Amino acid sequence: MNFLKKALDFIFPPSCGICGKIAENYLCENCKQNLINSKMFLNKVKLYQDKYINEHFYVFSYEGIIREKILQYKFKEYSYLSNTFCEFFINNKKLYGFLKKYDIITPVPISNLRMRERGYNQSDLIARKVAKFANITYYPKILIKSKNNKPQSTLNKEQRLENVKNVYKIQNIAKIKERRILLFDDIYTTGATANECARILKQAGAQNVGILTFTKDI
Ligand SMILES: [Zn+2]
Repeated sequence: MNFLKKALDFIFPPSCGICGKIAENYLCENCKQNLINSKMFLNKVKLYQDKYINEHFYVFSYEGIIREKILQYKFKEYSYLSNTFCEFFINNKKLYGFLKKYDIITPVPISNLRMRERGYNQSDLIARKVAKFANITYYPKILIKSKNNKPQSTLNKEQRLENVKNVYKIQNIAKIKERRILLFDDIYTTGATANECARILKQAGAQNVGILTFTKDI
């Protein structure tokens, strides 16, 4: 820990992203255990036969306090929640075994417009730390979002499929050829976004594409 961080932690001690009490790493032990013991904690791998995405690891179901925190996380003043969420990825033994099957981790991108509004890609903050934890190469900009589509959350399943078509582009094909790519996103709903990203990655020569998400809408 460097001096500046130590000084800042002294003036503004990090607090638990769930209950607000002072807590190292933005998550107190009590909230961590409560969430791990709740029915929301799934920590599960799902295999897909019929999709471009080969497999999916998700930690929580998208409901309750977890859903509430994900919704807050879209706003910059709550970006510290990335630390809270990461506590469920870091030192997660089951996840570690899953991550080891991949060469590269990359976040699902947001558009430039959204980036300007928010000031950050919420998936990038988490994916970066997860990659570091498992010692996997992190490439934040393999994919770009070249069009501003409607937010997926406002659409039904069919509209979602249509809405993501040809929205993403690959920036550096050489980096992904015959590599095993793991996408990262905060939430998985119908999988339309993940599948469209996987489709173009595979078209460009990726060997295998999986997705890791913090939550799954079940
Ligand atoms: Zn707490």
